[in-house]
Amino acid sequence: MKRIGGSQLSHRVNKKVKELKPSGIRRFFDLIIGREDVISLGVGEPDFAVPWRIREEMIYSLERGITSYTSNLGLPELREAVADYYTKFGVDVDQGNVLITTGVSEGFDIAMRSIINPGERVVIPEPAYVSYVPLSILAGGDVITIPTSPDFKLRYEDIVKVGEAKVLVINYPNNPTGVSYTKKELEEIADAVIEIDAIVISDEIYAELSYNFKHVSIASLNGMEDRTVILNGFSKSFAMTGLRVGYAIAPDDIFESMLKIHQYCMLCAPVTAQIGAIEALRNGDDELEEMRAEYLRRRNFFIKRIKEVFEVNTPDGAFYAFPCIENTGMSSEEFAEKLLFEKNVAVVPGTAFGECGRGYIRCAYAVSMDKLKEATDKIIDFVNSL
Ligand code: PLP
Repeated sequence: MKRIGGSQLSHRVNKKVKELKPSGIRRFFDLIIGREDVISLGVGEPDFAVPWRIREEMIYSLERGITSYTSNLGLPELREAVADYYTKFGVDVDQGNVLITTGVSEGFDIAMRSIINPGERVVIPEPAYVSYVPLSILAGGDVITIPTSPDFKLRYEDIVKVGEAKVLVINYPNNPTGVSYTKKELEEIADAVIEIDAIVISDEIYAELSYNFKHVSIASLNGMEDRTVILNGFSKSFAMTGLRVGYAIAPDDIFESMLKIHQYCMLCAPVTAQIGAIEALRNGDDELEEMRAEYLRRRNFFIKRIKEVFEVNTPDGAFYAFPCIENTGMSSEEFAEKLLFEKNVAVVPGTAFGECGRGYIRCAYAVSMDKLKEATDKIIDFVNSL
């Protein structure tokens, strides 16, 4: 029997992939895997189980033996439900422009690969979700990052300064900062996007977790309907991370191009998850509201306490806070490592989300209130003992 593994011939692998940095989140996640004694504010994963009514629909579909491929496009009922649902965020969507994907992760990858020709510019405001830069590079893009510290808001001037670009990526409410944009702020961003004639990829996965004002999709603004690809999904709002289902809404030409890639590399999103997603959109409002209220309670608690030791903006949405730890005199990595080894609390260094995250840490408050209280006490103790 031959054993596979152990090859040193690393010149065989793709150069672009070889040069990518491993995710800074994974590194910390690997350190704590299997450690029951650690409270993790590290990974951005809801601590809720998928609401029961959604699980029940999925179980029932399995009992009936519904386990085959769906259309490449996704189940028609789900596409229709998504189109109806998006009117909530101000956009009139035809279900013909809805593609069901294997999470926003796949949506982002195929959107980039559909749009970008080698060397075209992709603008990514930082700090940013960890997959944007690597996937843009793999798609052949020339990545330009825009630092948004210290208030982490992207503004008109930042975009027009870039001059020319094929794509601008935005994500709001934002991972890792929790920043979101009002309609007026989005209008400024839209003006700049039109001025530089770019396409926007708008990752709205935390749209339902908006606490300070109602989420508005940038696609709903004048002149944006034909230059926006909306990405959204069920991982965060319905705690369906492991079920892998999301969707993209795109103008016809980009849609066709995304569908081509999707049908070759993915075939379809998991059928069981698609069935759960239909139930989530049709009847999941109460459970969603309960989860949102609980995240808001945790946000208010965490921000109030963490302000005892750090400067921090109050997040508008998502379930992340991004405090500045510069007063400790430590780097983000040093702080995260010492906190983990001395207090058994995991956070992610801000630099995992780009250079301008230097001096910050990301804390995910998607853990139970008891754990959040204990973790916050430990962080405060740790800082006070320095
Ligand atoms: N986009 C953002 C901003 C995220 O924070 C995450 C997960 O953390 C994803 C996309 C991945 O989403 P999905 O599970 O739908 O692939």
